[in-house]
Amino acid sequence: MLDLIRSSESISRVELAQQSSLTEVTISKIVKELLSEGIIIQAGQGRSTGGKRPILLKLNTGVLYAVGVAFGIPTIVIVLCGLSGTLIERVDIPGMGAEPPPKVIARVADAVRQLLEDRGIQPESIMGIGVASSGRRRGPLGWGADPLVARKWERFNTAAELEARCGIPAIIENDANCVALGTFWSGGTDATRDFMTVYMAQGIGAGIVIGGAIFRGSSDNAGEIGHIVVEPDGLECWCGSRGCLETVGTPRGIVGQVLADPELAELFGDGGAPDQAAVYRRVVAGLDDGLPQAEELIARSVHSVATALLGLNNVLDLDRIQLTGPGFATMGQRYVAELRTLLRHASFTRGVHDVSVELGGTGQDVAALGAASVVLHGSLTPHHRSARI
Ligand SMILES: [Zn+2]
Repeated sequence: MLDLIRSSESISRVELAQQSSLTEVTISKIVKELLSEGIIIQAGQGRSTGGKRPILLKLNTGVLYAVGVAFGIPTIVIVLCGLSGTLIERVDIPGMGAEPPPKVIARVADAVRQLLEDRGIQPESIMGIGVASSGRRRGPLGWGADPLVARKWERFNTAAELEARCGIPAIIENDANCVALGTFWSGGTDATRDFMTVYMAQGIGAGIVIGGAIFRGSSDNAGEIGHIVVEPDGLECWCGSRGCLETVGTPRGIVGQVLADPELAELFGDGGAPDQAAVYRRVVAGLDDGLPQAEELIARSVHSVATALLGLNNVLDLDRIQLTGPGFATMGQRYVAELRTLLRHASFTRGVHDVSVELGGTGQDVAALGAASVVLHGSLTPHHRSARI
C-alpha cells in the first residue's frame, strides 16, 4: 500500500481500495495505523466524484530518513535521503584504500554521526543505513569488496560493524541492486515492470527487477554480468575465469588490455605503477585524436557490453534497460546506441514489443542513493523485501 502511496504522490482511501483490491474497511484500518506512526500524512482534499471530497494521503518525508553509503576505493559517498528517496545531504570522505576495515568503518561512522548532527536529526529518525558494495557474496559475512582489497574485506562483517558503531540498523547490498531499487523507488516505476539496471564502476553488474523485486539467485550472487565469458581465450579475470566481460568491457578492463599489450602500454600507459583513471582518460582522449588503437579498445568494450546485455534480455524478456554508474560517464551514449541497434535487429522479441534503453545517473552518488532506497524499500514494502535488515 505504501508502494501505491509513494508511486502516486497523493492518493485517497477509495483510490487505494480500488488499486490494491483490499476492502475499504481494511484500507481505513491500515491508514489509521500509518497516520498514527507518522509514516503518512494528510495532504488536502481531492476532487469529488459525487459525494464529499476525499482526503488525500501522502508519505511524510520530514519525519523519517535513510542513510546510504557507497564504498569505493578512491572515495566513500554518504547520503541522507527523505522517505521518498530524495537527496537531502551528501558528503564524501577518502575511500577504502589500503586501510584496515575497522579504521575505515570508524571513519564512516564518524561521518554519518556528523552528517546527522549538522542537520539536527536524531539517530532514532533514521530507518537504517544502506551500504552499497561490489564483489562476491560469501555467505552471511558479507561481500568481498573490490578484488584489489578483497582479502581484507571479504571476511569482515561491514554492516554489523557499522550498525554497532552508529547504533542504527545497517544492511549491505550489491551496488547494482542498490541502483536498480533506487530507480524503482524514486522513479515511480510500476511494480509490474520487469527491468534491468546495469551499473558500471570498477566492475559491471546488473540489478534485475522482476515484478518489483530483485532477482537474487540461490546465493545472492545473481546479476554478475561482468563474469559472462565474452572472449574464451582472453585475459585472466580476478574471479578465476578467463575472458570475462569485465576484462574487456569496463574502464578497468580497457586499462588491463592496455597494460597487457606492450604497444598499447607504450601508447597509453605512463610507465611505472599505472594510474588506472589516467590510462583510461588517455584512451578516451585517443578517440578525439583519431587513434585507431583507441577506437578499437572502446569499440570492443561497447560491443561486448551490448552483446552481453542483448543475450540477457533474450533470456529475461525485459521492457527496460538502464545504463548507470561512473563507468558510463564519458562514453555512455555510445553504449546506449549500440544496445538499441542490437536489440532492434537481433532481440528475440523484436516486432513483439519494444525494449527501452536509457542512460541513468552516472555520478558518484548513484550507488549511495540506491543504498538509501534499499532501506526504504525493505522497511516500507516488506512484501517486496529486497534484503534483510
Ligand atoms: Zn570474471
